[in-house]
Amino acid sequence: MDDEKSIKHVAIYLRKSRDDGETDDVLVKHRDTLVNYAKERNWTYNIYEEVASGESILKRQEMRRLLNDVADSQYDGVLVIDVDRLSRGGNADVGLIEESFRESNSLIITPGRIYDWNDEADEMMLNFLLLGSRMEYRQIVKRLKRGKLAGAEKGMWVNGKPPFPYYYDRLTKTVKVDENKRYFYRVMVEKFLSGVTLAEITRWISANMPTPYGIKTDRNWSFMTIERILASEVHLGYIVYGKSNCKDRNNRKHFPREEWKRYNGTHEVLKNQEEHDAIVEKLAKNKLKHPKNKAGMLPLSGLLYCQQCGRRMSMAAFVENGIQKYKTRCENRFEKSIKCGQRSTILGNEFYDAIYETIIRLDPKYLLELQENSSDLEYYKSVLGTKHKEVRKHQQALNKLYELYEENEITKTAFHERKAVRENQMAAIDHEISDIEEKIAQKSDLPTVEVIQERINYFRENWGLDLEIKERNRLIETMVEKIMYNRVGNTISLQIKYN
Ligand SMILES: [Zn+2]
Repeated sequence: MDDEKSIKHVAIYLRKSRDDGETDDVLVKHRDTLVNYAKERNWTYNIYEEVASGESILKRQEMRRLLNDVADSQYDGVLVIDVDRLSRGGNADVGLIEESFRESNSLIITPGRIYDWNDEADEMMLNFLLLGSRMEYRQIVKRLKRGKLAGAEKGMWVNGKPPFPYYYDRLTKTVKVDENKRYFYRVMVEKFLSGVTLAEITRWISANMPTPYGIKTDRNWSFMTIERILASEVHLGYIVYGKSNCKDRNNRKHFPREEWKRYNGTHEVLKNQEEHDAIVEKLAKNKLKHPKNKAGMLPLSGLLYCQQCGRRMSMAAFVENGIQKYKTRCENRFEKSIKCGQRSTILGNEFYDAIYETIIRLDPKYLLELQENSSDLEYYKSVLGTKHKEVRKHQQALNKLYELYEENEITKTAFHERKAVRENQMAAIDHEISDIEEKIAQKSDLPTVEVIQERINYFRENWGLDLEIKERNRLIETMVEKIMYNRVGNTISLQIKYN
């Protein structure tokens, strides 16, 4: 099967049902079967295992963790003994599962067959298996395909759950904007366009919104989710159909954009074409900047810089005694031939320990800068408050002046003179206010000491030597923009530029 070749890393999900009176042996037997199945194919795997009475996902902690990781594209697929181990719940559960798998292009693998939610025939089969639909399978496929296309042509929503911040209103069968999320979507777009990094946006939205998968865990939003939302054409008002008709998983990834069918939807447009083009361009540039970042396969990719020449360093992967290892490398050459003198280091536990220590031990100078920045910020904010009060005072005086004039208490000349004085004063204050606002905007770029402290705590709690490369890169990125590397003799020095 074509799909099987693209599989390298899977999750194994095991659930023993309390209700069915299954014995412990069953679980052991299932585990052996699935682990062997993965081993025979040289797949790497993580196991998720729980004993649960078959109901709702909300009550199944491991299932929630699994779905979150699947949505986060951590696996090529999830290996289960039977599809119905995933759910016997209702529509809501199946919807949640479907979304996590579909969005991340992850497969459901059973020893008998591989299912791909983005393949329409498989989709029907999965609905059939998970919801126990009685309708004849082939008929549903045909009807659904026809119905979907016809619906899309009419601008009807046909694509399952719409992206953040939209929701599907079952009553009116239309897509609407969730008013609690609208603001966050717009700020996300504006932040990204104004040059805020994806890491920063991820952190900001994680602090304000649960993940769009609706699963309540302490896990954060992922970069990929945000990238996907930012790049989506749905927010331009389109319904996109025919992205993934293709059976082969690898082909589907490169399915040409030009061939997608776009129909004008009836839902509200949330970004204009100009914004969309700028987003797409920026995302493409990001990818050029971090070509390996997306796959997340190389450690510290895009983070390490050479202190001697300032260039981003690369990683060389090699195998020693059967173990995958990496070493740092500066590939810079001056005038075509002279190599940069930077020396390599093998990334081992000591190296990571050094990174950890350096990151959590903040440079006192940097702390001082943050403190000064925060107190400046507070000062400007209080000045701003005073200035707004002054404006209100002048406004009241001006109103009074109009009353006096209307009641003939003052002459026209006096009125105009006094009015001009007030208005000049107000214009001067307005000017000051915009100056102060600009300063506040500048100062707001740096985090406060408290925020940095929180980030460090998060970093410490999540750090471990057993982290996978991708997880570790992400964790470092939550704090760090750059790590400057230098090696003299056997001494390695690291300097952190925080973001
Ligand atoms: Zn160098």
